[in-house]
This record gives sequence, C-alpha cells and structure tokens, in this order.
Amino acid sequence: MDTEVPLTTSPDMQSCSVEPLLEPDGYPLAGRSRIRADTVIQLPSLQMGDGGFAIIAGPCAIESYEQFRETVIALKALGIRLIRGGAFKPRTSPYSFQGLHHEGLAIIAQVKAETGLAFVTELMSPELVEDVVAVADAVQIGSRNMQNFPLLRAAGHLSKPVLLKRGFGNTLHELLMAAEYVMNEGNEQVMLCERGIRTFDPAQRNTLDLMAAPILKSVTHLPVIVDPSHALGKREFVPAAIKAALAVGADGVLVEVHPQPEAALVDGRQSITPETLSLLLAELRGLADVLGREIF
Ligand code: PEP
Ligand code: MN
Repeated sequence: MDTEVPLTTSPDMQSCSVEPLLEPDGYPLAGRSRIRADTVIQLPSLQMGDGGFAIIAGPCAIESYEQFRETVIALKALGIRLIRGGAFKPRTSPYSFQGLHHEGLAIIAQVKAETGLAFVTELMSPELVEDVVAVADAVQIGSRNMQNFPLLRAAGHLSKPVLLKRGFGNTLHELLMAAEYVMNEGNEQVMLCERGIRTFDPAQRNTLDLMAAPILKSVTHLPVIVDPSHALGKREFVPAAIKAALAVGADGVLVEVHPQPEAALVDGRQSITPETLSLLLAELRGLADVLGREIF
C-alpha cells in the first residue's frame, strides 16, 4: 500500500464551522478514495468486513471464571467465534462494579485456552496496553474514550485490530477522525461501531442511529458494526435491532449475552440469553439468505 498520506484536509474543511457532509476524500486513511478494496479485519477465528455478518457476543463484564466460561461455551455451541467481555469497565458511578481488572484478563486467557475462540476486551488507558494485548485478539476503545487522543495513538501502535465505538455525543465525522488517529500511527485494522447516541428521548437508553452503518460505509472502507445492547438498554428490543443491522448492511453486531441476565453485575437489563440468541440466529439465517449474506 502507498504510504504517502496527505495529512492536511481541504481548505474547506479547515475553515468550516459547521461539519461538512461526509465525503470519502475528507479522510486520508479511512476514506474510500485511498484504498479501494474494503478492509478485512483478520482475527484468529474469523474475518470481518468480507461481506459476511459477524456476531460478536458475550457478557458486558467478566464477573467470574464460572460465569464467563459458561457463557462462552454456550456461545461456542451456537457457532459464535468472537467473544466480548470487559475486564476494565468504564462506569458512570465510581461505586458501581468496575470489572475484575487483571483477574478478568487472566480469566479471558484461561477461557481462551479452553475454547480456542477469539476475544475482544476494552482498553481504558495507555498504561494497560501491554497487559490487555497479551490476552486480547482485538482491543475495544469505548464510547467514552472515542476522543481520548493519547489512547487512540497508543491503539495505533498495536498489531491487533481495534474496535472503535462511537462516542454517545459524537458525529460520524468525529468517529472517522478518531479512526484516523489510530490509523495515522500505523494500525489500519480498525472497525467502527455504532452504539447509540444521546437524544432527547428516554424511550431508548441511547438512540440507535442505524443509518450510521450505510452512511459510514459509503465513505470508509473500514468494517462497521452495530451494538444494539448499549443503544436500546432493554433486551426485548435487541433482536429487532440486530435484524435491522443486517438489513442496513452492517458488517456485524456486538451483543451482550448473559446466561442469567437478572443476576448480571452490569447491564443485565439489556443482555439477552444464549437461548434468545439461538432463536434469533435461525431468523437471521433466513434473512441473510434473502440478502445473499452469511452469518457467522
Ligand atoms: C461496552 O461495550 O462494554 C461498553 C462499555 O460500551 P460503550 O463504550 O459503548 O458504552
Ligand atoms: Mn455493557
């Protein structure tokens, strides 16, 4: 790939007080004008962005070895290949469960050795890079850190894919520029994740901006996934949002799954069970057939 990257934006963009409508040439590395082929993210257990629809599933947080292992085994039986699970949790309240931290990372390592699946977990600060990368197959940058520029730069030095979540108060332009921060340091394995934005309506925890997927994909060659769990906040709406994500052309979803949602330490209200996911997968496969896509 050509490494000469024009680092300046057009004069129009520099002087614009209102954000420009998204154009591929506004993004030197993430924009479609620079790399014609779609970026395919390489993970040990699957590829993302190759036209298929990937289900990334797992609990919000790793709560114990038993809870995580039980969840991952149930997901493996459903054919899920990439597991989510937070060891370091960004919580609104400092009094809420913050994750098991390094013990959580050790649990990922153990369950990974037992199941052979791939794992994505959140990186919350540059000091944790080495420890997180030692166990994670992909590194998540959460909504609250989407514009944590030192963290984005640190993620840019990794040789692992980065799952970059949209800030709940950020535009798609800002999300793409956050991806530029990562890519500009050398890591071009970035996938973008729409996870709901804050609007005036409390009917959803956030408001799922489903059109983010096709709009982003018109501008960028990076894979785009949708997180219905943090957008909706209620598990009963999650299956509809996943079907919609497939229909609008997203490359996959990131969904919270817990074997006993009512006992979950974090985000139980929005977590679906492996049984619900199993029923949903059957429906998704029917939909995917019509759309000429594959679910994995
Ligand atoms: C998560 O996916 O674990 C999470 C905390 O989500 P977000 O950063 O989108 O709030
Ligand atoms: Mn969560």
